[in-house]
Amino acid sequence: MAGRLGLKIDVDTLEGFCKGVPALMEVLDAHQVKASFFLALGPDNSGRAIFRIFRQRGFLEKMWRTRAPALYGFKTMCYGTLLPGPQIGAAAPHLAPRLAAAGHEVGLHGYDHVRWHDHLFHLPPEKVAREIAQAQKTYTGLMGRPAAAFAAPGWQCSLSSRTALAAQNFLYGSDTRGATPYFPAFGSRVTSVLEIPTTLPTLDELLGFHGCRPQDFTSLVLARLDRGLPQVLTIHAEVEGGPFLGEFARLLARGRERGVEFFRLGDWARELLQAPEAIPAAAVTSQRLPGRAGRVSCQGPPEAPPS
Ligand SMILES: [Zn+2]
Repeated sequence: MAGRLGLKIDVDTLEGFCKGVPALMEVLDAHQVKASFFLALGPDNSGRAIFRIFRQRGFLEKMWRTRAPALYGFKTMCYGTLLPGPQIGAAAPHLAPRLAAAGHEVGLHGYDHVRWHDHLFHLPPEKVAREIAQAQKTYTGLMGRPAAAFAAPGWQCSLSSRTALAAQNFLYGSDTRGATPYFPAFGSRVTSVLEIPTTLPTLDELLGFHGCRPQDFTSLVLARLDRGLPQVLTIHAEVEGGPFLGEFARLLARGRERGVEFFRLGDWARELLQAPEAIPAAAVTSQRLPGRAGRVSCQGPPEAPPS
């Protein structure tokens, strides 16, 4: 079986937006593949991520292993620390409409990526809702309509964030790591916005592991598609849209050769929501993943339907 692969492209930084997005668009266009882009539209405070070194196990090792300064550039690493964080959406207002005009889905990846990633669980619900509303306001200003999709920065989601997505009428979220679409539950509360999790490891998680090379990553993704279930892969505009653009092109070329069907997450969400009763609820748990610093929100086992 050729398999189905949804490409979820996260854009975290100004560099990723202004340089990574056009580069990825060109490669996607050359292979006639449509993807789902998720944009962080507020300030680029990437430099603050450096301070995770002092707080988070695994960050320093990951910085070294992935050669973050080479990936992100020295200037990006100063944003929000030595330099003020520039506004990402405003820096290239034509880009998001261009993505949509080219047939890609355009959703939100938060407002201030670093604030969400580092502080989501400490922010009061109204501040979480405000992060989403600010992102939505910027998006609406650029696109003339609100976004239907939200992908949480750093795969961090909470009852507050999922409740805010429901209140702000999002069609679906892609906030977690998991296996199949579900309705996220927090304790006894099952939230109402569909979740389409990322199912595959990312390139930056695998790089450098046991001598894993970028081409091994492509083989791993294609092998997972043989299992029959649709898969969702998260791509980073700063990684696959930067130094690993060649490997991303190879993934698309090899996928196309094998007849892989690339899909946009929003199309799958609409398909699934035709029969919401068939979608299970599952708890959201906080887990460590190999190759990733800190914890991420993950899909737990399915919950029994209420009797
Ligand atoms: Zn991100």
